[in-house]
This record gives sequence, C-alpha cells and structure tokens, in this order.
Amino acid sequence: MGREHDREGRVSEMDNVETILGACRFCGQTKAIHPLNPYMTDEEADAIATEDCDCPAAKFQREKEGKRERAKAAVKTKFGPGEGGERWVNEETLHFLEAAVDLVIEEQVESVQVKVSHTVTAKIHLTGKGNVKIEKTKTTKSAIEA
Ligand SMILES: [Zn+2]
Repeated sequence: MGREHDREGRVSEMDNVETILGACRFCGQTKAIHPLNPYMTDEEADAIATEDCDCPAAKFQREKEGKRERAKAAVKTKFGPGEGGERWVNEETLHFLEAAVDLVIEEQVESVQVKVSHTVTAKIHLTGKGNVKIEKTKTTKSAIEA
C-alpha cells in the first residue's frame, strides 16, 4: 500500500516537471529544457543550456573541449598500445601524458616534455594557432669506437 502511494506521488511529480530552465554559464541566456530525467539538477540544466548556446564564450569552450578530446586521442594513438601490441609507455604514464594535455589546454604550462625512455621523448605544447601538438621524437644513435 505504502509503496503504491509512493509511485503515484512520483508520477504526479514528473508531470509537474515538464520543462526546466537552464542558463548559459557564460552569458546567462536561459533555455527551456525538456529533461528526460525528472530529477535533473540546475547544474545539469545549465550544462545543457551552455552546450546549446551560441555566444562566443560558449563556442570557444566547445572548441577547447574538442581540442582536448582530439589531443588525448592523439596521445593514445602515439604512445598507447598500437597494432601488434607495440607499447611505448605504460597505462600510468599514458594518464600522466593525458593530464599534461589538460595543463597545456588550460594554459597552466606552455609545454610538457617527458623523456619516456632512453630514446623516446614526448612533447605536448600549444601551437601559435592555439592547437595542441603532440610530438614523439625517437632518437637513434650510431657510434663506432675504434
Ligand atoms: Zn552563452
């Protein structure tokens, strides 16, 4: 009985929450959101409004997130396990390099250079155009001692 009552209460609650207002985090423009989840928080609604907003700051933020995603994917491609099981760094170091992408993107540091082995160096930095560049340098040394 008690359980049935709870369910009814929830249904009517859902009817009341048809749309909620979200506000762009940058310009404050509001947008009516039809949440799939009736318990959506204001913060989640604001995130959706920000994602949909066309103001320059919201666009810039989306571009930045796109760059972050692509840069992290590039780190994985270049240093993660490749075809044939080739692996340049271990999982922990891979996370470290991904964290370095965040620091570079947020402009906390200009570049991060990691010597991952005797011969391989990873460098992550921002280009003049504001893109993130992932470099893998492999040095080979050839010496003859006579
Ligand atoms: Zn906005």
